[in-house]
Amino acid sequence: LQSRLPSVGTTVFTTMSALAAQHGAVNLGQGFPDFGCDPKLLDAVNEAMRAGHNQYPPMTGVPALREAIAAKIGQLYGHAYDAATEITVTAGATQAVTTAILCCVHPGEEAIVIEPAYDSYAPAITLAGGTVVPLEMEVGEDGYSVPWQKLAAAVTPRTRLIVINSPHNPTGSILRRADLEQLAAIVAGTDILILSDEVYEHMVYDGERHVSVASHPQLAERAFVVSSFGKTYHVTGWKVGYVAAPAVLSAEFRKVHQYNVFTVNTPMQHGLANYMADPGPWLGLSDFYQRKRDLFRAGLAGTRLRLLPADGTYFQCVDYRAVSDLPEAQFAQWLTTELKVAAIPVSAFYSSARESGIVRFCFAKQDETLRLALERLAAI
Ligand code: PMP
Ligand code: GLN
Repeated sequence: LQSRLPSVGTTVFTTMSALAAQHGAVNLGQGFPDFGCDPKLLDAVNEAMRAGHNQYPPMTGVPALREAIAAKIGQLYGHAYDAATEITVTAGATQAVTTAILCCVHPGEEAIVIEPAYDSYAPAITLAGGTVVPLEMEVGEDGYSVPWQKLAAAVTPRTRLIVINSPHNPTGSILRRADLEQLAAIVAGTDILILSDEVYEHMVYDGERHVSVASHPQLAERAFVVSSFGKTYHVTGWKVGYVAAPAVLSAEFRKVHQYNVFTVNTPMQHGLANYMADPGPWLGLSDFYQRKRDLFRAGLAGTRLRLLPADGTYFQCVDYRAVSDLPEAQFAQWLTTELKVAAIPVSAFYSSARESGIVRFCFAKQDETLRLALERLAAI
């Protein structure tokens, strides 16, 4: 069989988690919490199952959940999406991303991807027959930033889509209002669409607030805005997310979605809809994770690892060049097998060979897990 994705192997997250398990390493590699979710959320899903919500839901998602999502976006970002025609529940953000790309990128068209980038964007663009146009973020003392002028220069008449991700995996950087203004100026007067991956929307630190594409009318009118309950409610294995997009875009999204998954599991949707009545969990998430971020950063401050800014997400990037000149993948392996703390090489988020001497740690862990990792990293 001739592969449709010849350059794709097993994802770095799977590989590093396996290596961590094999060597008894503290797994700060793959991004997932090592603690449970709110028992009230488990009760809500159990109740939904017992109440008989176990057959196919509507193709676009359980209405109560779509309404709760639209209400949340309205309250936080001031954009009124119509729950009936503009919100679709998906099997995690991954399916939302892939489906959005498949429904709008045609063979021969280009999609600009800002690198380092989450690993699912490029393969989806390739499957759609599109061309990935990578655009590297700049990294300096102040951390990572998007060079908007270079992005403007990468636009061609074939550009169909620009993929953005804020808060950003793996760098922990965030896009601010001024960034969105630059993006809006670039796409004004074109038919370029935006795919905005906002799965870490509720993890933004130091008093800053997430600036959603939904809050920017000129961008929202051409955007698929994606999020995931896995991140917000500490249930990455549930794989329930959503896409918010104007009705014309949502209609095309749904054409692909109905043959992609058809529907997303019913009891989870009912449970999530009930649980969403309380805004407390998402309103408190930034404080919850900022404390963990600060604990982790304070612990690393005495080491030779240089901490990059971590403005959002549950990831902390470090520059290790004072410690080692190994390439990133080998340094991450060394950390895992010798120091017994797993990390992810940032080079895995680039489409071409790129070494910056930076690895990513995930701090979505119990304090005792973070302390154990810090003890092991203390010697570095
Ligand atoms: N986008 C980004 C930036 C992510 O970090 C993740 C989680 N790995 C996803 C999308 C996928 O989310 P989900 O697990 O809901 O598919
Ligand atoms: N989003 C998670 C990360 O970046 C992992 C997702 C996955 O395993 N594919 O680590």
